[in-house]
Amino acid sequence: MSELKFKIEIESDNDGYVAFECPFCETIFGLKSNEYQEWLETNNEIYCPYCGLKDNKDNFYTKEVVEQIKQIALNSAYEQINTVFTKMAKSMSNNKYIKMTYKPLKTARIDNNNKTDESSDEIFECKSCQHHLKVNYIVGKSRIYCSYCGRDI
Ligand SMILES: [Zn+2]
Ligand SMILES: [Zn+2]
Repeated sequence: MSELKFKIEIESDNDGYVAFECPFCETIFGLKSNEYQEWLETNNEIYCPYCGLKDNKDNFYTKEVVEQIKQIALNSAYEQINTVFTKMAKSMSNNKYIKMTYKPLKTARIDNNNKTDESSDEIFECKSCQHHLKVNYIVGKSRIYCSYCGRDI
């Protein structure tokens, strides 16, 4: 089996923000796509703006994105199985003792619809590191932490 390699595309909203979900309080927040990409070049962890807890960025994917990742991995595995078995069936087509037919597994269509819900979101700029956050000000009414430096905004 060769290594599974795939790229995850998370769509950003009209303002260029990508949705994340905190693994601790399960609240959604947005980070500016280009700032986040840049941040990842030197960092691995981000803070939740609501509870202020820090974790690996991989744990901040939203449920929709996690589903998408699983589906991509599954599709990719199916494709490899299909290739192997289709070849095997073909190589046996001249064999009169063994008959093998193989019906390829169906790969699922991937719904690339990870849109950020922008109902009551407000954009904040961190005074310390100048990064931008989109947070739900109803959820974070008491206090907002910067996802990058963890400071109180
Ligand atoms: Zn949180
Ligand atoms: Zn900051």
